[in-house]
Amino acid sequence: MLEGNPRPGKKLLATGNGRCNLTNLHISPERYHGDAEAAKAVLSAWPARQIMEEFGSLGLICTSDAEGRVYPNSLQAAAVLQALWSACEEAGVETAWNFEVNSITPEAGGFLLRSKNGEALFAEKCILACGGMASPKHSCGEKGYGLIKSLGHTVTELAPALTPLKTSSKLCRSLKGNRCKAKAALYQNGEKLGEQQGEVLFGDGQLSGICIFDLSSLLGKKSEKVEIRLDLLSRFSVQGITSYLKQLQKNRPALPAGELFSGALNLRVGQELVKSLGFSREMPIGELSARQLKCAAEAAKELRFPITGPSPWESAQVTAGGVPLSETELFSMESKKCPGLYLTGELLNLHGDCGGFNLHWAWATGMAAGQSAAKACQAC
Ligand SMILES: Cc1cc2nc3c(=O)[nH]c(=O)nc-3n(C[C@H](O)[C@H](O)[C@H](O)COP(=O)(O)OP(=O)(O)OC[C@H]3O[C@@H](n4cnc5c(N)ncnc54)[C@H](O)[C@@H]3O)c2cc1C
Repeated sequence: MLEGNPRPGKKLLATGNGRCNLTNLHISPERYHGDAEAAKAVLSAWPARQIMEEFGSLGLICTSDAEGRVYPNSLQAAAVLQALWSACEEAGVETAWNFEVNSITPEAGGFLLRSKNGEALFAEKCILACGGMASPKHSCGEKGYGLIKSLGHTVTELAPALTPLKTSSKLCRSLKGNRCKAKAALYQNGEKLGEQQGEVLFGDGQLSGICIFDLSSLLGKKSEKVEIRLDLLSRFSVQGITSYLKQLQKNRPALPAGELFSGALNLRVGQELVKSLGFSREMPIGELSARQLKCAAEAAKELRFPITGPSPWESAQVTAGGVPLSETELFSMESKKCPGLYLTGELLNLHGDCGGFNLHWAWATGMAAGQSAAKACQAC
């Protein structure tokens, strides 16, 4: 096992906010992007229960939440790393840290691997589990693409995913530090690319939160005419909200317009929404016209944020794009371009939603590749 970092598992320790959301009870190709259709075979061969059983056999008890997200029972990512690490030690796995592989050369009967410090070693089979471009402070994964291309593979266009979305909206800036529940939809050229429900966080020039991260997976590098539209009151129709506002106007005509949504929305979000409509905040709501009330209801149902692109790799949790799955044998994960080489995880053209789907893909392909490579070595 070769690792470019001074120690293994740096990224694993950071997953799930230090709790490691290691899989999800609702694994299905619909929760993945990229070559999701091709991934079906691997995902059905390695369901969540199987992964939990594998960890169970190492002594790690798992627990799941209402949304099917699976964590170690201790809610400590360190427990997952410890289980894997002690199993490696027991199995006598030879390791080298600070060994950043710089080149892989196929040779008779295997591969010659060289590190950036000039060390060399020979391996009969080689499993590439280099990860991707996301979160470079946790991994030196960007090197993997050069290695894989040198071995005859292609790599699709890469883009940060599960990342905040950048916006030029002044409204977002004035809401910095606030959060609210919403149904968020991603549009390009007026066409809806996807929709997610959850908590939205307003940052300095960016929108984030799990639902925004999931939508970022659909964006790729697209940045022209992209919008996020937030439905802040998804349980109600425009008509329902308008009737509510009219009733409020009747009951409390002296209420300042700035407080129009104070009974329905996060206070600050409601105030900024009213401000964005150009209403004077001090004006009594009794003076608002029926049309203005309808406009306010419409804005609460579809608050628009122009998007200028995904946040950079530093903020991303995964990489969209990678080696096409058509270049590997599914089930064994062996390369079709370079026999004896196996590909796993984020390096491949598949990434999942937030919720344990990405680590699941890493375990599933890792198990498949490990078992196939071991079998092939025994047969040699
Ligand atoms: C902050 C954060 C939180 C996340 N939380 C979750 C979560 O809770 N649940 C979930 O499902 N997913 C989560 N993810 C995504 C998940 O961690 C990744 O999808 C997953 O780790 C990918 O596994 P991998 O084995 O392909 O690559 P990685 O886990 O990135 O591992 C690749 C390893 O290979 C090493 N390496 C790369 N190139 C070389 C080289 N040339 N020589 C030697 N070593 C090399 C890297 O240093 C790294 O240690 C999170 C990601 C981040 C950044």
